[in-house]
Amino acid sequence: MNAPTSVDIEPFVALRRELHRQPELGTQTFRTAERVMAVLREMGIDDIHYGMAESAVVARLKKGTSARAIGLRADMDALPIREASGVAYASEVDGAMHACGHDGHTASLLAAAKLLVDAPFDGEVVLIFQPAEEVGGGANLMLQDGFLAQFPLDEIYAFHNLPGLEEGVFATCEGPIMASTDTLEIMLEGRGGHAAFPEETIDPIPVALRLIDSIYAIKTRMVAAQDPAVISITQIHTGSAENIVPQSVYINGTIRTLSAGARQRICSEIEKLGNTLPPVFGVASSVRIFDSYPVTVNSPTQTKHAIEAAKRLGATVLERPAEMGAEDFSFFLEKIPGAYMFIGAGDGAALHHPEYDFNDRVLPVAAAWFRQLVVDRLPAN
Ligand SMILES: [Zn+2]
Ligand SMILES: [Zn+2]
Repeated sequence: MNAPTSVDIEPFVALRRELHRQPELGTQTFRTAERVMAVLREMGIDDIHYGMAESAVVARLKKGTSARAIGLRADMDALPIREASGVAYASEVDGAMHACGHDGHTASLLAAAKLLVDAPFDGEVVLIFQPAEEVGGGANLMLQDGFLAQFPLDEIYAFHNLPGLEEGVFATCEGPIMASTDTLEIMLEGRGGHAAFPEETIDPIPVALRLIDSIYAIKTRMVAAQDPAVISITQIHTGSAENIVPQSVYINGTIRTLSAGARQRICSEIEKLGNTLPPVFGVASSVRIFDSYPVTVNSPTQTKHAIEAAKRLGATVLERPAEMGAEDFSFFLEKIPGAYMFIGAGDGAALHHPEYDFNDRVLPVAAAWFRQLVVDRLPAN
């Protein structure tokens, strides 16, 4: 497709590659934030707030008299992966890389800002550059730091590039589009001893097996069949030798759901089982469920606007079923009506793969979409 854009995209591709060389993790996206602010100021955007969630940048662009405000969000953080893409501008930080394309998301939103400086609209555009999407819930940290009080928004939008989806094709759906994620951690404490005399021990291993079996039964027996949910136990650590009954077992895993109801039921049943089943066998237990991202829920009206904006650019928009991955844009969508869009990046390594690299041809497409949303939703009279 042809992205109608009057902005010269080359400087933003160069900037994207510059960001790619210097990935930063979690809330520590300080240098990235510095570059973002410098580029915004070069464009004449100087209503800038820095420092929510440690290193977030929020910039305001206001035109006309309308009090309506629309938020556009990009994430800035990278992943703890050693890059193997082989590109000339590969990561110069050992053990960190932009393997999810947040370098591209950041550059796309900056390109959109450049377009918006000249675009006709009436109201307020809030450009949100957030850290800690991958871990730490940067969006949630921003909300805790008073984002809503400072930047009241009527609507909010974001996108993610998606390898495997045809380049330039858009995909989204109304309602839940990404899952909630919760981490579970269970510690079982028995009484270790000689493996030849189990009767003198309290063996936590068979208790761990019963507990995991019971946890897996929650999905089939306590959650409706049409309500998708995944529970994956991914780590069990115990034992040191074949002739020793271990003292303790550490279990952890992930819980994914597409509804608040399923999420609540599964989390509370795991807590109940984890706290009550092991003691029946004399094993002490502690259960923690944490690091939660809620379900990403697209508001129906804003999803329609997001689709219309893409279609106005001549793009194909596909209906995309919800998936069990998670996204911390969900925190914004809990508070503000909005929509999350995927934009196809074509062939190439998958997200979070060491050979992944953001497809720069997505950049002008995403920038044009952001611009179109603003022009549509904050019409100049
Ligand atoms: Zn990611
Ligand atoms: Zn991502």
